[in-house]
Amino acid sequence: MLCIKNGRVLTDCGIKRDELWTNEGLIIEKPEYPPENTRFYDAEDCFVLPGFIDAHTHLEMTNSITATADDYASGTAAALAGGTTTVIDFATQDRGGSLNEALEAWMDRAEGKCSCDYAFHMAVTDWNNRTKAELRDMVKAGVSSFKAYMAYRDLMLGDEALARLLSEAGALGCVVGAHCELGEGVERGVKNCLNEGKTGPGYHPLSRPPRVEADAVSRFLELADRSDSLPWVVHLSTSTGFDEIKRFREKGKSVLVETCPQYFSLNDEVYSLPGFEGAKYVCSPPIRSEEHRQAMESAITNGDIDIISTDHCSYRYRGQKDIGKNDFSRIPNGLPGIEHRAVLLWEMVERGEIGVERFYELLAKNPAVNFGMYPRKGTLSVGSDADIVIWDPDCMWTIRADEQFMNTDYSPWEGRQVKGKARAVFLRGVLCFEGGRLLQRGIGRYIPRKSRIG
Ligand SMILES: [Zn+2]
Repeated sequence: MLCIKNGRVLTDCGIKRDELWTNEGLIIEKPEYPPENTRFYDAEDCFVLPGFIDAHTHLEMTNSITATADDYASGTAAALAGGTTTVIDFATQDRGGSLNEALEAWMDRAEGKCSCDYAFHMAVTDWNNRTKAELRDMVKAGVSSFKAYMAYRDLMLGDEALARLLSEAGALGCVVGAHCELGEGVERGVKNCLNEGKTGPGYHPLSRPPRVEADAVSRFLELADRSDSLPWVVHLSTSTGFDEIKRFREKGKSVLVETCPQYFSLNDEVYSLPGFEGAKYVCSPPIRSEEHRQAMESAITNGDIDIISTDHCSYRYRGQKDIGKNDFSRIPNGLPGIEHRAVLLWEMVERGEIGVERFYELLAKNPAVNFGMYPRKGTLSVGSDADIVIWDPDCMWTIRADEQFMNTDYSPWEGRQVKGKARAVFLRGVLCFEGGRLLQRGIGRYIPRKSRIG
């Protein structure tokens, strides 16, 4: 039995100074007669929060050119070090292939390697005669959310197929997400730049302007409007895209909105870095102008954003990002962020823009509720998994790539001075991380998730 004492515990009725008890991996009521061998953990000066959930990661993902720098081992270790105890990663269907085969392949890759718990969304890349039946298989296997890409030639789903996915998955009570950038807009933008000899990484954001996102959000929500699914706009980055969401919500419709630290903590000045440095920030959608960054920040403050995830998709600067040295469109897209999500959002708590409860909702409760893991995850209620972050709000430190657990040779936030840190992290009652050191690796388990109708 374990008792975490002296901390400020996030309970169902707010934050209070309290003890938190766990036994055999679960949160328990304070026992009347604690056993003699009870272990105590002193959380003095810290918040005691439910483990964070990163609902958007790409680990161990391979394409025809390269593979992500983080596999399940390094990615989930880095997650844990930042207070994240569960990741929802993307399994991706092969074109013409089966969802069951895809899930099996991704399960095999992750098995036995994860340091935090994990689950999968399924990215559907085409709609074939097996897909409808396979959606049911996915729900049975604990995959209750799907994603479609509206951009990327090898992955994108046409409107008709996306409409089918929304209606069939909606009927099963599932969430359907979309990567909202219109493929044709992106391709046109990239071609125009390259034709004019604009090949450096600084042209990446200009090739996919805000309008490309807003048009896609608008089309996605229009299709979603005709189904029962809960649409999920992943990694929103613009105020123009957000305007489409506001319009949809004003009609009384629900939509789940996610953004990522790169869209509220950085702006497009990063693309003006000298030489090829801007390549470190090539991700899609791109990092936007200060105006859009501020819009994302106020949307978080105003409660219009539901979830903060990372879209962690990591590539090394040397040897991977430089594949696109002479052509920005060949730079592998994605940023390493899985380790630093909480501390970057904590900056907003520190500035008084959001409170600790909202911080927790964005990082843990909302992903757990909307992706079918609540109350097993995302709360410190009796009976929940004892996934616990001991969060030290006063720890000052500097983000440095050479001190991180992520397997990249850079950090997008290199040199940034931050405040707040996971002092210790428990996964199902086991102390896995403390004082900057991983104490346990590889004990993460697969977490099946429920759809809204069972
Ligand atoms: Zn993604």
